[in-house]
Amino acid sequence: MSELAVKDWVKQVIKPDEIDEYLVNGKDFIDEQVINDTLANNQKPEKQQVRDIIQKSLCIERLEPEETAALLHVKDPELWEEMYAAGLEVKRKVYDNRIVFFAPLYCSNLCVNNCAYCGFRYENRDEKRRILTMDEVRQETEAVISEGHKRMIVVFGEHPRSDADYIARTIETIYGVKKKARTGMGEIRRANINAAPMSVADLKKLWNVGIGTYQVFQETYHKATYATVHPEKTLKGNYRWRLYALHRAMEAGIDDLAIGALFGLYDWRFEVMGLLHHAIDLERRFGIGPHTISFPRMTPASGSYLSTNSRYFVNDDDFKKLVTVLRLSAPYTGLIITARERVELRREIIQVGCTQTDASTRIGIGGYTEALKELSNIELRNQEIDKQQFILGDTRRLDDVVRELAEMGMITSFCTAGYRCGRTGDKIMGLLKSCTEGKFCKLNAVLTFREYLDDYASPETKAIGEKLIKQELLQIRDIPFFSKGSLLETFEKMYQDTMKGKRDVYI
Ligand code: SAM
Ligand code: SF4
Repeated sequence: MSELAVKDWVKQVIKPDEIDEYLVNGKDFIDEQVINDTLANNQKPEKQQVRDIIQKSLCIERLEPEETAALLHVKDPELWEEMYAAGLEVKRKVYDNRIVFFAPLYCSNLCVNNCAYCGFRYENRDEKRRILTMDEVRQETEAVISEGHKRMIVVFGEHPRSDADYIARTIETIYGVKKKARTGMGEIRRANINAAPMSVADLKKLWNVGIGTYQVFQETYHKATYATVHPEKTLKGNYRWRLYALHRAMEAGIDDLAIGALFGLYDWRFEVMGLLHHAIDLERRFGIGPHTISFPRMTPASGSYLSTNSRYFVNDDDFKKLVTVLRLSAPYTGLIITARERVELRREIIQVGCTQTDASTRIGIGGYTEALKELSNIELRNQEIDKQQFILGDTRRLDDVVRELAEMGMITSFCTAGYRCGRTGDKIMGLLKSCTEGKFCKLNAVLTFREYLDDYASPETKAIGEKLIKQELLQIRDIPFFSKGSLLETFEKMYQDTMKGKRDVYI
């Protein structure tokens, strides 16, 4: 594609009308003065005030900005311990002991933007550029399925060659792949995407091919910092086009949305407030907040000075605090911790209330297929910095992480039923707020865990998994909610069917 054609494409991406319609008196919902004042006015919360706020979260109510700001300023280590414990309790109330797994699939590192922290930015001459063909997407998907995954997040740089039509073809290709496993057939049942902001018309194309969640990270909510790290003349330089990406997705019919900030670009307390205001604005306008919040920390990327030299890096202690405050602030929202983080820290952060994570992750373009060729072992030994976006902290296989979580009493869920039963958007929000979704998911988690143990688990993981599944079955039989009507009976039948090799049964 010629440079001129790329430039012409760039010129028509942003539709100013699709920003302006959301502004109130010409202003967006990130009022920095308000955020700074809220932070400044809540610097010394009383012990009792903090405990009252914790109680509110435990009642599964979203916090107001003043309350979040107060939690962000807690100094007392004893209160932090109470908050960590409350984070896990909130998570258990809404999501039980489940952790949902996904695998990222990087399809293209071509990019018209020049984000200072990212290895894919166009000025990075060290990066080997590549975009997957549909055959390659198929091969990558097969490799991911072979690990036991059912859910993917498909990631794209922003470029005319990876436009909405390419993304739509990719999603269709992924859904079309079936791969024989030990007992049943493996497949990806939900393909989420992480891609640049798009127009409503383009988002409709993605909705039509059945994407799961649409994820866009604002990176930083602080406007001056945003301008520094995203050059003005690039598409990503338009703060508001990005800020309203998920509002446009709602207009296009995609009601399963994911927000996030890249921690390390600006003050972490400010970013937590930005995320909360984003969630509140979506709720206010559409009655639905984000399904998940992500909080990636900036990690070293090829050719990026900023990625190893920022005055705003978040240390491990503060990271744990910010995740806890997010957990308590948006009790019914999923929280995603990724393989960017080291093994021990990831384990600790999961314990303050995360709901989703990835494993056996490769983020090089074509990385899964290459790993299979090289080693017949997907563990990343030498990460190839010139082919991937940044360096991972945890490169273990899915089987290892599933086993570790089972040892911690957490059940891995590969459930994708909510989406296919119409339990998304306002329906799922209602179910999550009333802690009912967790119950359906408990049943579906057991069914999909059964599939995983029979189709993919190593003997060690299977042994630990069997003990866990036994406990889960006992609990299910004991919970009155399941015994009402025929739910328990239906579930028992589905469980037996799954044991016999039937796949993809869900409630
Ligand atoms: N190009 C699309 C965009 O920017 O929205 C989506 C793909 S981009 C590869 C996905 C996310 O990777 C970004 O939103 C950013 O938060 C994250 N990212 C970029 N550089 C990173 C780094 N050095 N460390 C950690 N995460 C990074
Ligand atoms: Fe491109 Fe996204 Fe990387 Fe920015 S973060 S350079 S937009 S891939």
